[in-house]
Amino acid sequence: MAVDLHLHTNHSDGSLSPQELVYLLKSLNVSTFAITDHDTISAIPTAMLHAKKADMILIPGVELSIDYPLPKDAHLHLLGLFIDVKNTRLQNSLKQLRFEREKRANQIIQRLKDLNINLDPSKIDQLNQQESIGRPHIAKLLVEHGYVKSMAEAFSRFIGRNAPAYIPKKKFKLHEAVELVHHAHGLAIIAHPISLGFNSLNELQHRLDELTAFGIDGLEAYYSTHDQTLTQFLLQYAKDHRLAVSGGSDFHGEAKKEIQPVTGLGNLKIPDEIVPKLFAFHQKRFDR
Ligand code: AMP
Ligand code: ZN
Ligand code: FE
Ligand code: FE
Repeated sequence: MAVDLHLHTNHSDGSLSPQELVYLLKSLNVSTFAITDHDTISAIPTAMLHAKKADMILIPGVELSIDYPLPKDAHLHLLGLFIDVKNTRLQNSLKQLRFEREKRANQIIQRLKDLNINLDPSKIDQLNQQESIGRPHIAKLLVEHGYVKSMAEAFSRFIGRNAPAYIPKKKFKLHEAVELVHHAHGLAIIAHPISLGFNSLNELQHRLDELTAFGIDGLEAYYSTHDQTLTQFLLQYAKDHRLAVSGGSDFHGEAKKEIQPVTGLGNLKIPDEIVPKLFAFHQKRFDR
């Protein structure tokens, strides 16, 4: 059996539909998985139906980008796992983020226009139909229109940070996001701590101390781009601070072709045992 607790669908910037993702995971012998789309939980009801049919367990999740002071090029993403997708405050907050994403996408398109880059209006309409619009969608359009050769080039020349059509995205502060996840009875997990921007494990330790003071429940220790040393450090940190441990590939499909579900870049090994431990942690956390 295999587990993977960080997966994206085409409801955000992944390329597979919820149904396609479930059956791909089934073929990979996955027993338990979490869908963690950016700013949306709309893939979960359909995925849940198929997961049940396929005798698999789906942990409802979401991934939020957080406004938090970090070194340049670092970023903080928060996973909400075991969230109640019926929670109306969570639903409304995510809706607000998606509304801001749509506004921002159209501002980016306007910037591109000013740079003489004209995207097909029907493609722009399609883009606006997306549940949770991100820069990868725009990058893909730039490739399709032949303005750039790759997604990477689209980011470096046009829409990446420091590029002329870059517009920042609306993000919640850490305390807001943690509170929101907890309000929906979810566990707030620091996604891919490798993104936190540190030059030493000592520096990472201080950053984690700072972050966990906000009420973080756990760390995504097992991740595609974490090496053994980092994974071991995070496991020890979690143990010392009584934090939950999660793990996932961050599979997106076409948008990040090099990453596969379950095995990540090829050598990811997520132990099955994290699942019962997370369930127990969650139960205890919200046992009232
Ligand atoms: P957004 O949430 O709309 O700001 O888009 C962020 C996503 O764009 C990230 O999750 C990455 O998947 C992707 N991304 C960011 N920078 C690059 C890059 N330089 N090359 C390719 N993809 C990128
Ligand atoms: Zn993504
Ligand atoms: Fe992320
Ligand atoms: Fe992700």
